[in-house]
Amino acid sequence: MRLDKVLANQGFGSRKDVKKLIKKGKVQVDGKAIKDSSFHVNPNESEIIVNGKVLNYRDYIYLMMNKPKGVISATHDRVETCVTDLLDEEYQPFSLFPVGRLDKDTVGLLMLTNDGELAHRLLSPQHHVEKIYEAEIKGLVTEQDVQAFKEGITLDDGYVTKPAQLTILDANDVSYVRINITEGKFHQIRRMFSALGHKVEELKRLQMGSLVLDGALDLGEYRELTEDELKHLQ
Ligand code: URA
Repeated sequence: MRLDKVLANQGFGSRKDVKKLIKKGKVQVDGKAIKDSSFHVNPNESEIIVNGKVLNYRDYIYLMMNKPKGVISATHDRVETCVTDLLDEEYQPFSLFPVGRLDKDTVGLLMLTNDGELAHRLLSPQHHVEKIYEAEIKGLVTEQDVQAFKEGITLDDGYVTKPAQLTILDANDVSYVRINITEGKFHQIRRMFSALGHKVEELKRLQMGSLVLDGALDLGEYRELTEDELKHLQ
């Protein structure tokens, strides 16, 4: 790959910016200063040093975000703020996208990556990846509702949901529940409760497969996955 392309892909600025950087002699490949932007390099094999720092070359980026409310799970929108708009400039060249969707008003765990294969595996219905949510529900949630989740609920379009687990954490005028589901239909949890005559007031995703939301992340914050988190996801 051309040296300027490698650097632009890794977040060192536009092609024009990195050409300047290279021309100034700020980039070394395997110990030699390279001033030619069209120089070809294999970033997985060569050591590239930029401004005195060794480049940690990565094809793929994996982030977990604590998605806030009011932001949509998309990459471009003319009106709404997208989750990718919350990312620092250093991540913009990587064409990251959200793995699945959370509703605009749902908060919590959202993974972003540019690894299409992993995203496909996590989202494919055949893989039955479990997602865990906590919700605040208006009104009293009962054991009858728990049973309905177990047996499958007929949604407004006639679709019958796969067996899901509903755990009541606190039941009162406002109820707090945990939901484990292995599907990801549009507005699924809100529609499941609606079919049972309940309204979801707040919804937060805590886990997707083995990936657990880092409690240290405030709403809108994100971080890269650790090696361990990534290993367990794959
Ligand atoms: N189910 C919903 O209804 N909304 C979400 O954002 C996620 C699951």
